[in-house]
Amino acid sequence: MKKLIAGNWKMNGSMENALNLAKDVVAGIQENTQLLENNDFLVCPPALHLAPVRTELTSAVSLGGQDCSPFDKGAYTGDVSAAMLNDMKCDYVILGHSERRQYYCESNMLIKQKAEMALEQGLKAIICVGETEGEREEGREQEVVGQQLLESLPEGASADTIVIAYEPVWAIGTGKVATTDDIAAMHAYIRAQLKSNAKDGDKVRILYGGSVKPTNAAEIFAVEDVNGALIGGASLQAHDFLGIAQAG
Ligand code: PEP
Repeated sequence: MKKLIAGNWKMNGSMENALNLAKDVVAGIQENTQLLENNDFLVCPPALHLAPVRTELTSAVSLGGQDCSPFDKGAYTGDVSAAMLNDMKCDYVILGHSERRQYYCESNMLIKQKAEMALEQGLKAIICVGETEGEREEGREQEVVGQQLLESLPEGASADTIVIAYEPVWAIGTGKVATTDDIAAMHAYIRAQLKSNAKDGDKVRILYGGSVKPTNAAEIFAVEDVNGALIGGASLQAHDFLGIAQAG
C-alpha cells in the first residue's frame, strides 16, 4: 500500500505562513511527481486556515482537521463539527492526539464519540495511540496502547474509515525516536489487534509518529507494518516534509 505522509501543523503560524507552506508542498510535489508513486499526502492546518489552504492544494494533497467535536451541531462553544470539516472538503481528521489527551483530558470514550461523528460525515479518522515514557519503563506499552485502541475504535472501523497513528508520547517533539525494534513490535501488535477488531484490519494504515525527520525516515519506513508517518515539527518546512516522503 502507498504510505500516507501526514503533516500536523498544530497551532503554528499565520495565515500567510500556512498559504506559503501549502504552496511549497504542492510545488515540491509538482517538481518531483515520482513521490506520488509510493506516497499519499495530507496536511492538517489549524481550523481557521483550512478554507484558504484548500484553495492552494491540488488533488495530490488531502486536507484534514486536527480535531472535531463529539457533538453534531448546536450550543458547543468553540467546537468544530465533523460536518464543518466535511464542508471544508477535508478527507481526514486527527483524533486523540497525545496533546489533546494530556492538555484536555480526552478519554478513549470521547475519542470514540468523535471518531463516530467523523465517520458519519465520511471523514477518515486518524486515531492516535501511544504510551508515556513511564508506561514503557514499566513494560506496559502494549497494555496501554491495546486499551486505547479497543476503547476508541468507532463502530464501522475499517481500512476505508480509519488510520491508526502510533506515537510514543516521549518521542513527540523531543528528538527521541523509538528504536526500529520497538516500532516493529508495536506495529505488529497493533496490526494483530486491528485484524480482530476492524474490517479489513490487515489493510488499515498504521502510521508512526514521533520526531520523524528526513534523516531517520528511511529506517522507520523499512519496518514492517509502518504505512506512513504523522509528522509534527518537520511538516512545517515543505523541504523536510517532502524529504521524509523521498526517504521512503
Ligand atoms: C506529532 O505531533 O504528531 C508529532 C509526531 O510531532 P513531531 O514530529 O514534532 O515529533
